[in-house]
Amino acid sequence: MIFVLFGPGGAGKGTIAKQLVARDPCLWLSRSWTTRPRRQGEPEDAYVFVDRATFESRARGGGFFEWAEFLGNYYGTPLPTPPPGRDVLLEIDLQGARRVRELEPDATLILLRPPSLEVQAARMRARGDDPQHIAKRLAAGAAEMEEGMAIADEVVVNHEIGQATAETAGIVDRYRSAAREGGGSCGGTTGTVDPPSDPTPDNPTEGS
Ligand code: 5GP
Repeated sequence: MIFVLFGPGGAGKGTIAKQLVARDPCLWLSRSWTTRPRRQGEPEDAYVFVDRATFESRARGGGFFEWAEFLGNYYGTPLPTPPPGRDVLLEIDLQGARRVRELEPDATLILLRPPSLEVQAARMRARGDDPQHIAKRLAAGAAEMEEGMAIADEVVVNHEIGQATAETAGIVDRYRSAAREGGGSCGGTTGTVDPPSDPTPDNPTEGS
């Protein structure tokens, strides 16, 4: 199964994704590629950090499940390779969520919302984003939220990390149970991803 956590910057997607995989051994978090420079203090393995030429070359070669350009940088999900039986968790933007819906209509799209613009901005400030970037993210986030509500299967408001993680974990369990009559466990043969035959547009500058 594929679970997609998406939503505006500062919603807490990264933290919740990490907590979900830490408590759920059947969930496998995909590591994205990006052309964005690494933030100060950001772990080296937060992304595979590459230059634009390297990213575009992989995109042309069909090496991404989905990819998008977001505020001037490329972000892409490599073709997923989860261990057998594990479900895939993607932490991506709205464009990516839309693309996954096209490629895998049964994917579960979970929109994560910050409780308010103030909290959203404060979270971005706390992780060191500069004011100009925050303003852009807030503007992009308003549109993301509206469109996101239209395509989401589920919406979680992140008032507090523990609450939002628990709610999201509950959603994952519920969808698993519905799909597998009781949940299933890792190590089985279900839950692997068939890569789409042609997931990547020919021209990377068009986004996905
Ligand atoms: P950030 O620069 O804050 O790490 O990420 C910017 C946005 O790109 C976030 O909304 C994040 O979820 C999204 N993102 C991260 N990885 C991917 C990816 O592989 N594909 C897409 N479409 N978006 C991504």
